[in-house]
Amino acid sequence: MVIAIDGPAGSGKSTVAKILAEKLGYLYVDTGAMYRALTYKALKKGVDLENEDILTSLSRQTKILLKEKEGKLKVFVDGEEVTENIREESVTNSAFYIARAPSVRTEMVKQQREMAEERDLVMEGRDIGTVVFPGADLKVYLDASLKERAKRRFLELKEKGVKTDIKRIEAELKIRDEKDKSRKVAPLKVAGDAFVIDSTGMEIEEELNLILKKWREKYGTTKSRT
Ligand code: C5P
Repeated sequence: MVIAIDGPAGSGKSTVAKILAEKLGYLYVDTGAMYRALTYKALKKGVDLENEDILTSLSRQTKILLKEKEGKLKVFVDGEEVTENIREESVTNSAFYIARAPSVRTEMVKQQREMAEERDLVMEGRDIGTVVFPGADLKVYLDASLKERAKRRFLELKEKGVKTDIKRIEAELKIRDEKDKSRKVAPLKVAGDAFVIDSTGMEIEEELNLILKKWREKYGTTKSRT
């Protein structure tokens, strides 16, 4: 079983996908972390981010591992733990170079599909319902207004003790949305058969209940089928 959750940055996909996976006993996969992990390595090595051939061979030589440890997702690149590093601003703002390279995406999609051979999963990203699993058992497109998403990001960072400016976050989210929606390959868009939730003003609990209700309507159970 595959539940695909797509949507723009800051729409709350990660929170919802994580809880949903926990409730259903499925594996949670954050595909954004995979693009971020490769971006981190590319920045560290100082490679030319405009050169697709270099990025492609880099992606083929890189071992990205997502591992759940004590209920938290840990990210490893070639054995090095980069869970925190991949959230740095430099990585966030450069990930689009990696994400727009077609052959890098082919490699990522291959790995993502392999994950579903072993386990039921909740996978979140931008192209899960449209490209990675067009036949997903349930597709959710989670959206929220730009203002709301910026506010959520701001509060998240504030909680972590990071000083920032909400206007700046809003501007950065807007740029990231535009890049994700306008790239030629696997742009962010709503799959025709996706269940769209505008979570503006909603509590997480409410979003989860909507998704679980949809799931039960379709399959009559919240239990794993494998
Ligand atoms: O989800 P997150 O914001 O961590 O993703 C970082 C970046 O990775 C996104 O802005 C997007 O460019 C890229 N991405 C993607 N396809 C996915 C997941 C993420 O292109 N399935």
